[in-house]
Amino acid sequence: MTAYVIRNANVLGVQVADLRIVDGVITDIGPAIGADLDTTDAETLDASGLIALPGLVDLHTHLREPGREDAETVETGTRSAATGGFTLVHAMANTDPVADTAGVVEQVWRLGREHGYCDVAPVGAVTVGLGGEQLAELGAMADSAARVRVFSDDGKCVSDAVLMRRALEYVKAFDGVIAQHSQEPRLTEGAQMNEGELSGILGLTGWPAVAEEAIIARDVLLAEHVGSRLHVCHLSTRGSVEIVRWAKSRGIDVTAEVTPHHLLLTDELAATYDPLYKVNPPLRTADDVAALREGLAEGIIDIVATDHAPHPSEDKECEWAAAAFGMTGLETALSVVQHAMVDTGLLDWAGVAERMSAKPAEIGRVAAHGRPLAVGEPANVVLYDPAATRVVRREDSVSRSRNTPYAGIELPGKVVATFLRGRPTVLGGAIVEEVSA
Ligand SMILES: [Zn+2]
Repeated sequence: MTAYVIRNANVLGVQVADLRIVDGVITDIGPAIGADLDTTDAETLDASGLIALPGLVDLHTHLREPGREDAETVETGTRSAATGGFTLVHAMANTDPVADTAGVVEQVWRLGREHGYCDVAPVGAVTVGLGGEQLAELGAMADSAARVRVFSDDGKCVSDAVLMRRALEYVKAFDGVIAQHSQEPRLTEGAQMNEGELSGILGLTGWPAVAEEAIIARDVLLAEHVGSRLHVCHLSTRGSVEIVRWAKSRGIDVTAEVTPHHLLLTDELAATYDPLYKVNPPLRTADDVAALREGLAEGIIDIVATDHAPHPSEDKECEWAAAAFGMTGLETALSVVQHAMVDTGLLDWAGVAERMSAKPAEIGRVAAHGRPLAVGEPANVVLYDPAATRVVRREDSVSRSRNTPYAGIELPGKVVATFLRGRPTVLGGAIVEEVSA
């Protein structure tokens, strides 16, 4: 028997309680039950001052394996995830080879089972080789051991309307969802940063908001037409929020995500010409950031997803135009959300749990994650200290890559412990090494 008693945790920021975990399951929860439980041989943790949340779920992580193990592996990426409080990540399909067959998604799934510090749910590609020309074996991936339910060409947009329609129709058979990277390719040829006054001044090719918004508008209409389920990745503009709001008001089955970096950072950072701030979709204006925060608070944007995109230094420490798009994000996600949403009064901790655990698990159709902290539920739990502060340092990165955009910035909060089915993957803020053994 493995047993833990967590004492005095502030559950969802609502109620101080003790939790007892036995063999991977929450067996007791309530105020001051700890004393009764001291008679057992359970290990006791004092969680005074800590918020208890259900294990976080990321719908959008790039683990890079197979193919770019110099950037990240399933093992290093899931260590990074556990450090950030995640118990499940969805691994994006733009690996090498692309995860477009049952064989590759099963390989990623197996790597997660063998080496994962959190669970790994592979995302399947929508089109063969992310080529945008031919549908991948969606049904075979859904039927595989990996039980894929989320399909995405992320990094690329499924820009062909006929293919997008077919993909939306196809996934209905197994309750899947198409997660679209909304980027009209012709409107973003050579694009480097948000299109606006600043892109003109800096001489960088602009990336207009309409390139994102036009695809979202088309896709919600396609989803309505075929009666299927659409998920919109990384919303970045005010107009995108308005389109999703309209679609939801019409009863269209659409969900949407925002990244932590789009909730905090703006396009003005491009003026540094530091490629750490180069990301797809690009950082937008302060007005867009305000709209994204409001949309997330209101529930128009359903979830926060990290778009953790590790890159080795040689792909980032070069001139802006040549640098890769993307930033790491797993280890800082909860802190950025606290800073942007909780400390600003836009969201409470129950709202954070909804948007970073329950909802992403529901969208991904993962039954064993995103569950409430309640008796009989799997013990996927995060203990988080909202009063801690830290200045982010690149060298503290648990990810194999160090392209965090927050280096030198002080962020609130710290993940103290993460439990995956009752086993600690993180204790005292550090990885528990024996987990992968
Ligand atoms: Zn993307």
